[in-house]
Amino acid sequence: MIQLPFRVIPYKTCKRCKKVHRQSLDECPHCSHITSEHELQQFKQHNKQKLQANVTLGLFFLVIAALITMALAMALL
Ligand SMILES: [Zn+2]
Repeated sequence: MIQLPFRVIPYKTCKRCKKVHRQSLDECPHCSHITSEHELQQFKQHNKQKLQANVTLGLFFLVIAALITMALAMALL
């Protein structure tokens, strides 16, 4: 069996907020402090917006990387 140079930490997805946390924790560190359903919905909506913003930023950097790659390729020709 191949030994990995790092230890794989088991994670699980919280059923309540859908965020990922260590399996060894008894309760979710992201949403365990939230008691009302309204607050939980706001928390989930905020996370959704943050995720969408990160995806947009990732796509932006992908386009920039593609443009730089094309510019370098054209400079070599
Ligand atoms: Zn949670």
